[in-house]
Amino acid sequence: MEIMEKYRCSVCGWVYDEEMGHPEGGIEPGTRFNDLPDDWFCPFCSAEKKKFKKKPTEIIPVDTGHFPT
Ligand SMILES: [Zn+2]
Repeated sequence: MEIMEKYRCSVCGWVYDEEMGHPEGGIEPGTRFNDLPDDWFCPFCSAEKKKFKKKPTEIIPVDTGHFPT
């Protein structure tokens, strides 16, 4: 079983999730970031593909304290 990665735009913070793809942009769910066309760009800020950085998978969401225990 393959692990789907997420890639984050270093310019605006928009995240490309390989599992979700980007159907609005014609990218099928499950499309690998590396398989995106070279002229693909961030749908949010139009940054180039190379501006995206792989998101570390082991990041644990920070508890923001929105839900007091
Ligand atoms: Zn962006």
